[in-house]
Amino acid sequence: MVAAGKLATYRLPPLPTIGEIIKLFNLRAERQMSQNFLLDLRLTDKIVRKAGNIKNAYVCEVGPGPGGITRSILNAGAEELLVVEKDTRFLPGLQMLAEAAPGRVKIVHGDIMTYKMERAFPKNLKRNWEDDPPNVHVIGNLPFSVSTPLIVKWLESVANRSGPFVYGRTQLTLTFQKEVAERLTACTGSRQRSRLSVMSQYLCTVKSCFDIPGRAFVPKPKVDVGVVHFTPLVQPQISQPFKLVEKVVRSVFNFRRKYCRRGVEILFPEAQRLQLTERMLCSADVNPTLRPTELSIIQFKNLCDAYRTLCDENPELFNYDFREELRMKRKSPKETFAEEESSYEN
Ligand code: SAM
Repeated sequence: MVAAGKLATYRLPPLPTIGEIIKLFNLRAERQMSQNFLLDLRLTDKIVRKAGNIKNAYVCEVGPGPGGITRSILNAGAEELLVVEKDTRFLPGLQMLAEAAPGRVKIVHGDIMTYKMERAFPKNLKRNWEDDPPNVHVIGNLPFSVSTPLIVKWLESVANRSGPFVYGRTQLTLTFQKEVAERLTACTGSRQRSRLSVMSQYLCTVKSCFDIPGRAFVPKPKVDVGVVHFTPLVQPQISQPFKLVEKVVRSVFNFRRKYCRRGVEILFPEAQRLQLTERMLCSADVNPTLRPTELSIIQFKNLCDAYRTLCDENPELFNYDFREELRMKRKSPKETFAEEESSYEN
């Protein structure tokens, strides 16, 4: 009886359906903003369950839109829910939800790429990094154009313990285009192994939760969606600055179908290229004829440590940028550097 009574205080009172909210506030999805809504509350409940037990938790939802996931978070018993939404059209509908859950919802009209989450929640929620994750969660179904740059930014925040991670090892439950979700979780040797796999897995335990077919969204996107859960590791698998790791991983995956030696070479200016590539691969004990997709995180760790040693010997080395050299030589990067992708697609 007591449990049922408690649950009743969390559950929202009867409200218009999400479909009705969309009609009521005329919330037509903006295709150019890649808005795709989830109307089925069983699905939004399922996403929220993948965040773990959020009863009495402090949650930040990114991109609440018409509020499907928002309702599931409130029904799951979150103590406080902060929603960050960029599009003003959704604010009245979110206000209606806030009134249905008095004192539990804070609405921020803003861009999650610039929002400072370090000040969002009470200081007393902070945990030591080595402790269990704090009672703070981030959940969201964002447009694909935002979710990839956002996770890259947040991975850097994990490394620096900033942003959402000032509270400790804050867990994230986010949606991605299915192919991106596969890259994030891809293991060594798999076809989807990429920069994103290494960058996310050296810092976090990354779990693929489930896929959502495109037809579950309104309007239906051309692609399916994957839900991914991240828990920052107590000890990152690579103990070098994020920018250094990013540079090594980007260079190696620059030529994802070639031997990894080819990518290592471009870390060094032409005059020292052969000699330093040899030294780096040798001290990292990495077989130069492995493909980038075949390298484990430990092998990337060894490569980063070896590169760090070389940079410590010659600090100018870290500033060397192969692409800049190409530009100086007035060659078309597209011609000579065909496999390069700056957008984390390789
Ligand atoms: N969460 C809702 C759902 O699942 O039905 C809406 C999902 S829709 C794919 C993405 C939402 O994120 C939209 O409401 C959009 O306005 C919002 N959004 C897009 N970019 C954003 C940004 N940079 N910061 C905050 N919200 C953003």
